[in-house]
Amino acid sequence: MLMNVSDSHAAATGALRGQEIVELLHEDQEFKPRVLLVDDDARMLASLKSLLQGKGYVLTVATGGQEAIDLLSEARFDLVILDLNMPHVTGHDVMEFINRSKRRVNVIVTSGASEIDAAIGAIRSGAFGYLRKPYSGAELFKTAENALQQCKLESENQRIALRLERSERMYRYLVDSSPDIIYTLDAKGHFTFINSRVQQLLGFERTELIGQHYSLLVHEGDMERANYVLNEGRGDFVRSRSVELRLKSRRDDHQVRIFSIELALTDLGAFAAQGAGELGPDQRKNMGTYCVARDITERKRADEQIAYQAYHDILTDLPNRALFNDRLGLALLQARRNQSLLAVLFIDLDRFKVVNDTFGHGVGDVLLQHVALRLKGCLRRCDTLSRIGGDEFTAILPELGNRQDAALIGEKFVACMSEPFELAGQTVHVSASIGVTLYPDDGLSIEELLRNADVAVYHMKSKGKNGYAFFEAGFLDGSVQKIALEHDLHLALEHGELEMYYQPQVDISTQKIIGAEALMRWNHPQRGFLSAGEFLPFAEESGLIIPISNWMLEAIFRDLLEWRICSGDALRLSINISPQYLDRGEIFERLKQALQRYKVPPRQIEVEVTENICIRNPQSAIEQLEKLCQLGVSVAIDDFGTGYSSLSYLHRFPIHTIKIDRSFVMEIQDPDAQYPVVLAIVAIAKGLGLNLVAEGVETLVQARYLAAADCKIIQGYLCHRPMSQNRFIALLQEQFAVGPGPQQS
Ligand code: C2E
Ligand code: CA
Ligand code: CA
Repeated sequence: MLMNVSDSHAAATGALRGQEIVELLHEDQEFKPRVLLVDDDARMLASLKSLLQGKGYVLTVATGGQEAIDLLSEARFDLVILDLNMPHVTGHDVMEFINRSKRRVNVIVTSGASEIDAAIGAIRSGAFGYLRKPYSGAELFKTAENALQQCKLESENQRIALRLERSERMYRYLVDSSPDIIYTLDAKGHFTFINSRVQQLLGFERTELIGQHYSLLVHEGDMERANYVLNEGRGDFVRSRSVELRLKSRRDDHQVRIFSIELALTDLGAFAAQGAGELGPDQRKNMGTYCVARDITERKRADEQIAYQAYHDILTDLPNRALFNDRLGLALLQARRNQSLLAVLFIDLDRFKVVNDTFGHGVGDVLLQHVALRLKGCLRRCDTLSRIGGDEFTAILPELGNRQDAALIGEKFVACMSEPFELAGQTVHVSASIGVTLYPDDGLSIEELLRNADVAVYHMKSKGKNGYAFFEAGFLDGSVQKIALEHDLHLALEHGELEMYYQPQVDISTQKIIGAEALMRWNHPQRGFLSAGEFLPFAEESGLIIPISNWMLEAIFRDLLEWRICSGDALRLSINISPQYLDRGEIFERLKQALQRYKVPPRQIEVEVTENICIRNPQSAIEQLEKLCQLGVSVAIDDFGTGYSSLSYLHRFPIHTIKIDRSFVMEIQDPDAQYPVVLAIVAIAKGLGLNLVAEGVETLVQARYLAAADCKIIQGYLCHRPMSQNRFIALLQEQFAVGPGPQQS
């Protein structure tokens, strides 16, 4: 069988056809000629067969012309030995069939002496030879061999052609199914060959690229490099080299793709003549280039992604601590070399925990993203802003002219946070406490600058938050103390170092004490007296607030028994309840038992909770507070106006008292001015029928303004500072000198 070399489908797909595979399997087997013997004379046929038996042929016999034609149509034969003179379908008819159907088979005709002309006619019409009956065995064999020799040569040629074509197709198949783009360029850089992968990877037809210059595919930014390796520099490399290039794609919105390309000089003629090693640079320049381009776009992107994530904060997309350290290290080197000033800013959000607890982490996350954007908007291009932890950001400001430049950024940061954030339909206020350190004044190393900036943040927080502070060496003592405090707090309970202080609440109109708020103090063995604000935040963080709160409940009831000796049940004792403690739910049982054990009328107790507790988990807060109310104790909202409470919540909550926060009272300075927030809070309390207490009253101006606004109960340094139980009892004894006065309700 002859292969159709131009079978474009098979070549294109590269697939091997079934028949070819069969032939491939047989290709290497010994060639056994298939011979068809045709004679109507059975004796002749038998003798013919016996003469050729054992000569290495595959013999088939036909006893008539029609049978011969049938056999020839079904199978391939290399030689037919054909009797011309047969009845019905003659040897001539068989010849005609062979010619008509273009079978490639040699025919030797046999005939008696009388049919010599007919035999000659047969030879003319294509028979290979003629044997006159009777013939000798040797004569027959020689003629058959001659005929088969030609046939053998022919089939050998066919086989070689087939093998060549097949290997060509195999290579094409391998080249086309390669995952890489394989191409060759001529000496001038024009495509001479390119495999079909280019269509899939870059969207170009191979035919439109042949003859085009490689620059058609190379991204402009990489052209110089491409020109060097594919053009000018070609003479410099002997065998191969590789280069990474971005190639233009017609796919995916014309995004470039990145390829790693292996190149080798190629010129089969020159190689064969001289061998690559012996070529001079000039000769090499005249050679073409063979290239294999591997698409490494995905790998590159994955690598970049991994590298990016290792150095960035996923939430805000800002550099993370690792990259911050890296950049600060570089900036410090530069600052040292140029003897320039550099600032590190440590930014810690105030009350972020409250936002998280109140609105949930989702809103907290969005807030951090918005904060990152605002802070970034305050910086120059050369500055670095990073997020190094929960609500902690840092900024590096290199190349500063003077200290004032850093102060300016500090001011900008504070100012940019003053606008409220609109998050998921909520208006959220946050501020930041910022610490600033300067290189070289406040530290020479990354660690020193960062730690001192952190110390300055601590200082800022203790000064009332929402602002920036430059580091001062004096801060150090305080901050070291804070760290140690956290540790000592564990022992404070055991060692009996905690004590309850009481700050009286006074009725302005009568000047009488109507109650007191219990405030915790820590009598620290080394550091002396610490107020609640200095250590309770640590107790909240560490969970120690729970045992501490339990201790507090016992302590205030013991103290209250003493109060009752001189004041009966006239006074109200307010206790602060930590949100964590309320959440835990055990306060109800404990309070109930204590009330029974100490036989205290419940109305003498008021619990203070901050507004935020009502919003975080309103349903559970309402339940807890309602249970407390059922005990008969009253509920006050502490620090009113600073949290997130809305009026709609307020009236669902079982509350009796609102405490106006110190920050609003502090604003009252001018006796002739109006203070609308205070007035609004007073109006709310009146509207809802609630008691009012103003906290942190320090001046007469404040007291008078509050009294005029109809807020009569005040608490603050103006009347009394928080004091020990003993001093408070002494105070009560003065007021109730004549014994417990008429009972108030
Ligand atoms: P708070 O409930 O708002 O308590 C008022 C704070 O303001 C107290 O600080 C008090 O000493 C202070 N203060 C009172 N009058 C004035 C004034 O005229 N001027 C100024 N500048 N400050 C004044 P303290 O004792 O440090 O307590 C801080 C916070 O710690 C309290 O805020 C309260 O939330 C919490 N706290 C205090 N004691 C306890 C307690 O026993 N248990 C719980 N869970 N929290 C407590
Ligand atoms: Ca309070
Ligand atoms: Ca308060």
